[in-house]
Amino acid sequence: MSKPNESFMRSLCMGKIAEDIIFPFPKMKAEEQETLKTVFSSFSSWLKGRDTEFRLWDKKGELPKEFIQEMKDFGLFSFIIPEEHGGLGLSATAYSRILQELSRYDSSMAITAGAHSSIGMKGLLLFGTVEQKEKYLPKLSSGEMIACFCLTEPSAGSDAAGIKSKAVKEGDAWVLNGEKIWITNGGLADFFTVFARTDTPEGQITAFIVTRDMAGVSTGPHEDKMGLRASSTVTVSFENVRIPAENVLGEVGKGFKIAMKILNSGRSGLGGGCIGGMKKAIALSTQQAKSRSQFGKTISEFGLIKQKLGHMVVDCYATEAVVSIVAGLVDQGSEDYAVEAAISKVFATECLWRTLDEALQIAGGGGYMTELPYERMVRDSRINRIYEGTNDILRLFIALTAMHDVGAQLKELAATVGSVFQEPIKGFGIFSDYAKKQMSLTTGIGKATFTKAHPSLKKETAVFEECAKGLAVFADRLLRKHGKKIVELQFPTRRLADAMIDLFALACVISRVTSAIDEKGLEKTVKEREILHVFSGQVGRRVRSNFGKIDDNDDQEIISLANHALELEGFAWDNL
Ligand SMILES: Cc1cc2nc3c(=O)[nH]c(=O)nc-3n(C[C@H](O)[C@H](O)[C@H](O)COP(=O)(O)OP(=O)(O)OC[C@H]3O[C@@H](n4cnc5c(N)ncnc54)[C@H](O)[C@@H]3O)c2cc1C
Repeated sequence: MSKPNESFMRSLCMGKIAEDIIFPFPKMKAEEQETLKTVFSSFSSWLKGRDTEFRLWDKKGELPKEFIQEMKDFGLFSFIIPEEHGGLGLSATAYSRILQELSRYDSSMAITAGAHSSIGMKGLLLFGTVEQKEKYLPKLSSGEMIACFCLTEPSAGSDAAGIKSKAVKEGDAWVLNGEKIWITNGGLADFFTVFARTDTPEGQITAFIVTRDMAGVSTGPHEDKMGLRASSTVTVSFENVRIPAENVLGEVGKGFKIAMKILNSGRSGLGGGCIGGMKKAIALSTQQAKSRSQFGKTISEFGLIKQKLGHMVVDCYATEAVVSIVAGLVDQGSEDYAVEAAISKVFATECLWRTLDEALQIAGGGGYMTELPYERMVRDSRINRIYEGTNDILRLFIALTAMHDVGAQLKELAATVGSVFQEPIKGFGIFSDYAKKQMSLTTGIGKATFTKAHPSLKKETAVFEECAKGLAVFADRLLRKHGKKIVELQFPTRRLADAMIDLFALACVISRVTSAIDEKGLEKTVKEREILHVFSGQVGRRVRSNFGKIDDNDDQEIISLANHALELEGFAWDNL
């Protein structure tokens, strides 16, 4: 049995398939399903047929006050707040499904509700004291207070540890000065989770609960954006704000860890939103393809249209599998799921982007017109690959975490080998697990296997096992080849991350299809098995290609061309 605190992907990079972590595929509790049915039926009577209004609000760049009030009345700020504080107390799984539903109506509305729960007040739920929770959660649940998450600053985006906002202890209070930019919900918020430098012996950054009624808190004008235009994005400024000591969130000095934990635990909400967008796009594209005729046929009859639709279905199914497993990990109280959560963010946001791009293509020129929903969906979705950690930074995090683990084992191996030379007989006796594992990986003996996958999925499971074996060897070879320098070598790091993303997604799809077969039998799961077949083929080809580039690549030429463009600040050639 795998330990509940183990990470599936970190284990996989060490050559172990910790299948207990992802089997059985998580299922929403029956009572939560019933709650959601009621909630969705109320959403439907409230939101159905209001697309003209959503389009207008997107153009104007604001959700009207009256609509924000409707959101409060329909409980959109209460989803994950425990029942004893007036909320619905939903699990991460059910919450993710709710954001899926809201995103099918409008993304600006979904992000307003999502930023409040996923990041705005999540710190209070995870790290708040009993007194803090009693004081704020009922107001946050009713929407009397809307929450936001204030981390980014003009000079600190991806490098969030570089924030300059500063809080200095003065008597019983902390005095905060600083400026946060691009804060979602900032213009509506009364509750601000703020991260500031405190430079205490306990650590450099501390999280605070700040409320709008504190003197010195102000917010700037609404930003004019590419997408999510009706959602509030503003600058938030703090000028000599006196924060009572009881408003420190978690421990003094532990703010950076708190920020990362909040972002990790909120990822299945964002993933749910992506799934909602994909399902809406598939519905729109299939209707469009069946109703539009060219060359005497409906365009749905053309192979190139079917190819797009088929891939959209595969991407959506895989995204739902990944997001469900990560939400399941949160619900089980897993403590080590940061890599999987980061993978789910990258995978979901990129599948959504591809799907929407293809949906717009199927709609042709009409897709480019603001009258149809496609261009707005594309604009709304672009930010997903940027905020809550850019996908580039998350790729580095995914791969470097794996390499850190492998590196630690290599050190252990080096120490063991050293003792082998000093005391050969004793040394061999204590040959580390890692060395044994590496021997088994390279010889194929004792190869890690998936025992819980359905036997009918042997072929697809074999792709996973083969690539998983390659992954552990790949991580090990990268580290042996580049040593500590790997941290600066982002091309191979990205390849390792991409292989990890693909393999986690494949493992999740295998788990999902296995559960479907167990539940419905083979005959009723033909389509699911087709999806797995296609997806495992894609993953196998991509992963092998990434592994092949460890020695055979054009990295140096690409770097040289980038340096050339940087030097010129442009492109060197012209046909004039
Ligand atoms: C609409 C919107 C809403 C937002 N909401 C919030 C919010 O509610 N709260 C909040 O705190 N923030 C919010 N943000 C900020 C968002 O989280 C940041 O924009 C994001 O973290 C990226 O930071 P940056 O924009 O400064 O980009 P930068 O960090 O300047 O990065 C620019 C580019 O360089 C790349 N890059 C940076 N460092 C590296 C590296 N080491 N290696 C390789 N590539 C690198 C990045 O991936 C990116 O492609 C929001 C932003 C937007 C646009």
